[in-house]
Amino acid sequence: MSSATQTTATAPIPLSSKPAGRASLGAKTACIRTFGCQMNVHDSDRIRRMIQDAGYAEVQRYEDADLVILNTCYVRENAVDRVKGHLGELNRLRREGRVKRVALTGCIGAAEESAALRETYDIDLVLGTHNTYELAEFVGLPTMRETYTPELPGTEGGHNAFVTIMTGCNYQCSYCIVPTVRGRMICRPMGSVIGEVERLVAGGTGYVTLLGQTVDAWRHEGKRFCDLLEAVSESAPRVWFTTSHPSNMEDRTLRAIGERDTLVKRLHLPVQSGSDRMLRVMHRGYKAERYRRKIEVFREAAPDGTLSTDIIVGHPGETEEDHEQTLRLVEDCSFDSAYIFKFSPRRGTEAASLPGTVPDAVVQRRFLEVLRLVEQNAFTRNQRIVGGEEEIYIRHGSTEDGKAIGETWSGHAVHVNTKAEPGNYVKARIESAGPHVLYAGEPGTLV
Ligand code: SAM
Ligand code: SF4
Repeated sequence: MSSATQTTATAPIPLSSKPAGRASLGAKTACIRTFGCQMNVHDSDRIRRMIQDAGYAEVQRYEDADLVILNTCYVRENAVDRVKGHLGELNRLRREGRVKRVALTGCIGAAEESAALRETYDIDLVLGTHNTYELAEFVGLPTMRETYTPELPGTEGGHNAFVTIMTGCNYQCSYCIVPTVRGRMICRPMGSVIGEVERLVAGGTGYVTLLGQTVDAWRHEGKRFCDLLEAVSESAPRVWFTTSHPSNMEDRTLRAIGERDTLVKRLHLPVQSGSDRMLRVMHRGYKAERYRRKIEVFREAAPDGTLSTDIIVGHPGETEEDHEQTLRLVEDCSFDSAYIFKFSPRRGTEAASLPGTVPDAVVQRRFLEVLRLVEQNAFTRNQRIVGGEEEIYIRHGSTEDGKAIGETWSGHAVHVNTKAEPGNYVKARIESAGPHVLYAGEPGTLV
């Protein structure tokens, strides 16, 4: 059986954890820990709103918190192991009287596993992804009416913000627990999305990321994802979206990325495998050739754009020939980055009981082979940018070393010497590049 390591071949741009803008400082304190993907980061933003409305001040350390909320991920086993480590630590702090209450929310909360965790650890409240609103009562707010998650209050006042356009997923990929813990797809009405985007932009947000498990599957009252994306791109100064599914990705959307000035020219399109046989076993619903064609359209529409993907190595039954085909696809698509995952069996998914377990050592070798190839391609592609001037959006302000982390319009992560605040743009020349990040020289001119 393979290990459950999640590793990325990229240095993803860190997601912001917003300052407690609305906190009314009081005697009560709460600490939120987030595990997992952008959906969870965004759910934590909503939880943050609730605890602030309830008069909690947000703190960063468990020992300073009356209430600790662990917002969890269940996609791979190592995510569960990490949460268990935190719960053990919280049990100890509780015994010492330093933490009073613990709540567990998110994907583990929606899974059967949460019952076992409750038996082993001291947890006061367990909530899944569909009943996060019940936290309101727990923190002393009036009981919230049941509502589907997108209508919960989200981020506000930050320079960048996530906007959920759909929840759940209608696919049944062999390995994936998401449909079990997040349910079937629910698309948020267009007017509601645009309303939130306009409110955010009016409040100072300059960068909006549309979120969902398969955003490009979004449909509502005859409108398709591209209609929504075009409308949002007219309402916000900078827009990105994640995650997309190759079966839903329309050429029209790929062309829009190239044509529309406010869209970041960055596509995350998970492929999972380059082998048609594995894609069929995984129930992905497309063949490798179709994926390649999509990438051709994207590269033509946005030649300087960046392309990232997700790849699983060591899915049950994956042969050497399947792996070779994945390597071929990686070579052909020349990804700028990839999240490469070792298969992690999730109880309740089809793949967990499939025969053909790939030995750990083989999984590790395949993992490294994919990783090396992605890094080589990314390094070569990044060298083309060295010497050019880029307009850079500052995501994270400078640390002690004077370097801020930004993003180019083509979606590259850049380290840049500037004191510019997050949300601002600077212009700077790219002086060097590694496989994961570009390095800009100083001074970064404020745009
Ligand atoms: N909805 C997205 C999609 O279909 O591409 C991705 C959702 S999932 C949270 C993110 C990634 O985790 C997947 O693309 C897949 O590569 C990986 N993943 C999901 N389940 C996994 C498992 N059991 N073992 C290893 N990787 C897994
Ligand atoms: Fe999971 Fe597949 Fe749905 Fe993505 S599309 S969330 S991998 S079931």
